[in-house]
Amino acid sequence: MAKLYFRHGTVGSAKTLNLLAVAHNYRQQGKSVLLMKPELDDRFGTGSIKSRAGLEMKADVLVNADTNLLFLDYEGVSCILVDEAQFLSALAIDQLREISLIKGIPVICYGLRTDFRSKLFEGSLRLMELADSIEEVKATCFFCNRKSIMNIKHINGKATLDGPVIDVGAEEKYLPTCYSCYASQLSVLT
Ligand SMILES: [Zn+2]
Repeated sequence: MAKLYFRHGTVGSAKTLNLLAVAHNYRQQGKSVLLMKPELDDRFGTGSIKSRAGLEMKADVLVNADTNLLFLDYEGVSCILVDEAQFLSALAIDQLREISLIKGIPVICYGLRTDFRSKLFEGSLRLMELADSIEEVKATCFFCNRKSIMNIKHINGKATLDGPVIDVGAEEKYLPTCYSCYASQLSVLT
């Protein structure tokens, strides 16, 4: 059995950069990696995994509701890397867990822990339940110097709890915040 990893962080925590660095290291050693991402995340154009720092690699697999990850060809694959894993279904995470067990391939998932309403995403919840290793990719609050744990949504410069949960936005729309800044901007304290 190989391990299932969940590396979570807020927006702007360089998760994708981290993923691309891991892919680069494997490939530099002549090893094959499989890069996956959910199809709905088309922020940077379908088919590529691109970090805000500018690095980019082609996604090998775009996962949608009809994808059965168990049926893909994993011959020679040393590691599976998943970007934006929060948007995967619980079923897709179950399949990745099974692949790590049956195929013996480590699966490293990167994603947000919670949405802008502070609720776990479906994929993140299942990863919290099933991952062997849960690691935090740390970033600093946009408004102060504490560690960010929340993702606040801004529309026209104003914090909001409105709108759809799955709404993949640009950097200016979602900001990493500590809980204190999140709570004060949204007046969520009772
Ligand atoms: Zn703060």
